Amino acid sequence: MLSHLECSRDGSRHDADVVQGTSPLGAPLLARYDLERVAAAVEPAEIAGRAPDLWRYHELLPVRDPARVVTLGEGMTPLLDLPRHGARLGVPTLRMKDEGLVPTGSFKARGAAVGVSRAAELGVAGIAMPTNGNAGAAWAAYAARAGIRALIAMPVDAPVITRRECVATGAELSLVDGLIGDAGALIKAAVAERDGYQDTSTLREPYRIEGKKTMGYEIVEQLGWRAPDVILYPTGGGVGIIAIHKALLEMRELGWLRGDLPRLVAVQASGCAPIVDAFVAGADESVAPPDPHTVAFGITVPKALGDFLVLDAVRSTGGTAVAVTDDELLAAQAALARDEGTWVCPEGAACFAAVEQLRESGWLTGDEDVVVLNTGSGLLYPDTVSIDDVPVLPAPR
Ligand SMILES: *Cc1c(COP(=O)(O)O)cnc(C)c1O
Repeated sequence: MLSHLECSRDGSRHDADVVQGTSPLGAPLLARYDLERVAAAVEPAEIAGRAPDLWRYHELLPVRDPARVVTLGEGMTPLLDLPRHGARLGVPTLRMKDEGLVPTGSFKARGAAVGVSRAAELGVAGIAMPTNGNAGAAWAAYAARAGIRALIAMPVDAPVITRRECVATGAELSLVDGLIGDAGALIKAAVAERDGYQDTSTLREPYRIEGKKTMGYEIVEQLGWRAPDVILYPTGGGVGIIAIHKALLEMRELGWLRGDLPRLVAVQASGCAPIVDAFVAGADESVAPPDPHTVAFGITVPKALGDFLVLDAVRSTGGTAVAVTDDELLAAQAALARDEGTWVCPEGAACFAAVEQLRESGWLTGDEDVVVLNTGSGLLYPDTVSIDDVPVLPAPR
């Protein structure tokens, strides 16, 4: 029940039924729905009986014709209790929303499923985007599923598996000797030369947020239509945290969620932490750090277009922003895998390191209901674990 698009800076209205990029101010466009009609048409109890994927919230998604939905079964990932790891960190009610189980192995599949579905519904012939790897892999997969073309550019240092995923699903792939911003410049030039291609760079098209916001709906639904006290999110471009905030506000307006919103925590790696720096400085926008680097490749975003929206999500919910070192996040990844048998991506691991830090500083008292977003599978980053010490024995006779 999509109504229109709204500029995230000045609130101006824009047509949702033509292909759109950013607003005239160059800001992200946010999808708005007729929430009164949604509230009259469906209630939470009815959603419980629907198929276990993100399209269960279709009244709050932008695809108009159900026949145009492009899906690989994404969504409704587990919200796991982590009793042993929670006890170790002094946060007994610690849970993880595990996005390692979605198609392509990262939560980027949510944004891609909804973004590609809507692009194809609006007649786009091909999508084009720069990526740090996971988004490109996901959009390439869904473009193949939709029968449209994909042009992807990524830094040559991006995780190798994501390069293979793009090639496997038939995308046109370029590697750039540089950072994601350099890949973006390449894509911009290519889109200007081609007919029918849409630039689907982060927050330069409106519907990726819509796919990612379903993580917020699911957490609340899985807790019995109740919000946790704190949600931690590994923040790169910030789409996920902006989207979860949007979902929470929508659910409150629908009357599906009551009371205070959870405190939202943006987690970054200390090698690239512009949002944390801006939060600490009390600034409304971020400044790109000079030499961005971290093993958590998905959150290496020096300057996010939606930085002001991330800072608003954090501040307006009474949350915070914290940075952790690569050593800390790799140690957290290893400890969690041993405690609970779940091998998370370095980005997700950063949030567990942040829980430890926030518990030590007293920001978390240990009484809170805490949800960590693990945005992808450890399987995408095999090199984060060394196997050099594993002995090779002669076969017994
Ligand atoms: C892209 C990515 C992130 C950051 O996502 P944003 O929503 O853009 O902040 C975090 N983790 C992984 C694994 C990613 O691929």
